[in-house]
Amino acid sequence: MSYFNKDIETLPLDRLRKLQNERLQQQLKNVYAKVPFYKQLFDEKGLTPADIKGVEDLYKLPFTKKSALRDNYPFGLFTVPVSETARLHCSSGTTGKPIVVGYTKNDLEIFSEVIARSLTAAGCTPGMKLQNAYGYGLFTGGLGLHYGAEKLGMTVIPISGGGTEKQIMLLQDFQSEAICCTPSYALTIAETIERKGIDLKSMNLKYAILGAEPWTESVRMEVEAKLGVTATNIYGLSEIIGPGVSQEDFEEKGTGSYIWEDHFYPEIVDKDTGEPLPEGENGVLVFTTLTKEAMPMIRYWTNDITSLYYDKSSKRTHVKMGQILGRSDDMLIIRGVNLFHTQVESVLENFGEFSANYQLIVRRSGTMDEVEVNIEINHDLFEGLKREASLNDEEVLQHDKIQYAHKGLGKKIKDDIGLSMKIHLACPGTIPRSEGGKLNRILDLREK
Ligand code: ADP
Repeated sequence: MSYFNKDIETLPLDRLRKLQNERLQQQLKNVYAKVPFYKQLFDEKGLTPADIKGVEDLYKLPFTKKSALRDNYPFGLFTVPVSETARLHCSSGTTGKPIVVGYTKNDLEIFSEVIARSLTAAGCTPGMKLQNAYGYGLFTGGLGLHYGAEKLGMTVIPISGGGTEKQIMLLQDFQSEAICCTPSYALTIAETIERKGIDLKSMNLKYAILGAEPWTESVRMEVEAKLGVTATNIYGLSEIIGPGVSQEDFEEKGTGSYIWEDHFYPEIVDKDTGEPLPEGENGVLVFTTLTKEAMPMIRYWTNDITSLYYDKSSKRTHVKMGQILGRSDDMLIIRGVNLFHTQVESVLENFGEFSANYQLIVRRSGTMDEVEVNIEINHDLFEGLKREASLNDEEVLQHDKIQYAHKGLGKKIKDDIGLSMKIHLACPGTIPRSEGGKLNRILDLREK
């Protein structure tokens, strides 16, 4: 196992807790004294920072929700004058006013530190070239990965998202060993390479660090096979720091992502009651930043649904989070059943006949909500059937092999998720792709 900061990544849990508690008390005193919003939260509960002795007392405090950032737009939650910040970013949200986040120089140092740890866990080493295909700009992804990779000693190629042809040209010409981007954009690059018949041997890609949107094993399988990489998960959100809040280790793929707990203390709570949930149960992920200076967050309600657990078999001591199922506000409720699009994506893992390109279309028919899964046939299978049997596109969709898989998918979705969904088979290349950033997998056609 490789570490960027071995002492802290393997710090025994009792010492990690002690460090967290010291940092928490400092942080609470600071926000109480400097941010009227937080002082009011404490006062309304009749609490002072002294009442919170450690992380186990955090439950006494109320949550901070996204509305607090909107209500205090743009700088109302800062603990320092804007002149003392070194950088401002915004979340990538597209509706209404953006969420603004500020960083002091020290915050940017911590941002780089957690990214350097994350890239190391992902398999990267000093001297490797990182093609940074996260968007540069107000989004925290591009610059976040950039400075963290430099801190690790990598050579950064700041290409940003999009421009797929150029991405591929640089992968070949520069022989980049690592790439970071959204998983849906990694699929776009991978498919373009396949479509153009480019030999993977002309590239030198070994690692893909993917995040900023939910993804599952079926996307991992496709990206790994088509790009010839080991793909790991990176998670984060602007309000907490940006990407690098947690990262999966490439040698422990599929067992969850380490949350860098010395900086970000996580809790999992019930999405309806807000009550803390035991290890392993799914709920809303809540973070308290322990070291952030410019804009600390206390019990920030991320809306992301996942679970936490301590992997006793690992040398790293920090807690792991499972895959993000989705954001609780993106959860569909269909005929009384809760549904995240990642659940459908997980089912696809069992069907090599389909690609990981899919979209869920939600419609209202009378008083009933219905979900249709729009899914593409695997490109090689599709072309193979066309060639072997001289079929046209429509005839391929009707082919026995495809129809058999069609029925099998419908049944597996019903068995695993508990909902019947109509499945619409589509030809390769017909469902919307990521053009560089996050991809919306749900098309909701219900009247609001
Ligand atoms: P926005 O809310 O505008 O998308 P950010 O760009 O800060 O703002 O995105 C943070 C959100 O992106 C997270 O709260 C989460 O919903 C999602 N996200 C980030 N990384 C991952 C990941 N690895 N897996 C699943 N979702 C992720």
